[in-house]
Amino acid sequence: MSFIEKYSAESELYYKTDTGVRCLACNFNCNISEGRSGNCGVRFNKDGKLFVPDGYVSALNIDPIEKKPVYHFMPGSMTLSFSNFGCNFKCDYCQNWELSQLIKSDKLSNLQLIEVSPLSIYDIAKQRDIKVIVSTYNEPVISIELARKIFKNAKEKDKSIKTGFVSNGYISRDGFNYIRDYIDFIRIDLKSFNKNRFRKLTGADLDLLLKSIEMVYKAGKHIELVTLVVTDFNDSIAEIKQMINFIKSLSSDIPWHLTKFHPDYRMIETPQTDEKKIEGFIETAKDLGLKYVYGGNYNTQYCDTICPNCSYTLIKRGYMSIIENKIKEKDGKGFCPKCGYEIYGVF
Ligand code: SF4
Repeated sequence: MSFIEKYSAESELYYKTDTGVRCLACNFNCNISEGRSGNCGVRFNKDGKLFVPDGYVSALNIDPIEKKPVYHFMPGSMTLSFSNFGCNFKCDYCQNWELSQLIKSDKLSNLQLIEVSPLSIYDIAKQRDIKVIVSTYNEPVISIELARKIFKNAKEKDKSIKTGFVSNGYISRDGFNYIRDYIDFIRIDLKSFNKNRFRKLTGADLDLLLKSIEMVYKAGKHIELVTLVVTDFNDSIAEIKQMINFIKSLSSDIPWHLTKFHPDYRMIETPQTDEKKIEGFIETAKDLGLKYVYGGNYNTQYCDTICPNCSYTLIKRGYMSIIENKIKEKDGKGFCPKCGYEIYGVF
C-alpha cells in the first residue's frame, strides 16, 4: 500500500461522474478517473470513491502568528501550525517545495510524518496553552476534510480556540461552505495580477482566485493578503496598482503584505527583491488609500501597524515578533488609544 493510500479517508466533498469522481474542494474541480489523483497529487480515485489525506501531519510547529504573516488577528499569539503534503499549484519559487511538490514525483521516501488524530492536535494546543491552530506550509484546501476535523474538534473542546488557513486562496465555494463554520481567518496569496503569468506560474485561473478572495472577505472571515514581489514577474508599478485597486474594491481595511523574494526551488537564478522597490510600492499603496500595508521577509520599519486616522504607532514589531502593542481591545475589537479609530481585525 502506498503512503498516500495508507494515510487517507473517503472525502466528503465529491460526487461520482460517468468517468470518475469530481472533487469539489478547489476551483480546479478535477474529474479524476479510477486509479488517478487530482492536480494536487494527494486526492485520488479508488474503487469509484474519492480518498483524501487523513491521520498524519508532515510538520507540527509552534510559530508566532506574525510568521504567517498575519498582523491583525490576535497579534502576538503563538499558533500550533501543521501541514500535510502536496499542492494544487506548482510555483517554481515555492519555499516549501519539499512539502508541496515532492509527492507529485514519488520522492517522498526521505520525508518524515507524524501520525495524528484531531484529538491529539487539540491536546498539544491545550498542553502548551495555544489558542490558535493553523493549517499552513503546504496548501490546506487539499486536505480540507482533515483540517475541518481538527478545527471542529478543537472548537468543541474549547470555544476560545481560533483557527486559520495560510492558503493560495483557490478554495471553491463548496470547499469554503464546508469549512466556514470552523475557520476564523484565511491568509491568501495574491501572486500576480497578470492572467497569463499567473496561469504559467500556478496552473490556475486568476479570475477564479479573485472571486474566491471576494467570497471569503464577504463572508466576514478575517483575511490578509500577501504578494511575494518577484523581479520581472510582478514588480511593475502598473501591476501593483491593479492589485491595489482590486483590494480597495473589496475594502481598504484588508492588510496587504509585500514580501521579499529569496531564490528557491526552480528559481535560484532570479535575484532577491530590491527592498527599496518594495517600500516604494508600500508608499504608493498607502497614498492610494490602503490602510495597512507591510513589508516582509526582511528586517524593515514597514512592519509596524500605524493608525490610519492619526498616524500613532499602534504595534511596534521586530522580525516576526511584537515589541509593543498599544491597541486598546474591547470585546475582541481593536481601537487606537489616541483617537479611538477602530482597527481592522481581531484583537
Ligand atoms: S483539491 Fe483541487 S486539485 Fe486537488 S483533486 Fe480537488 S479539485 Fe483537484
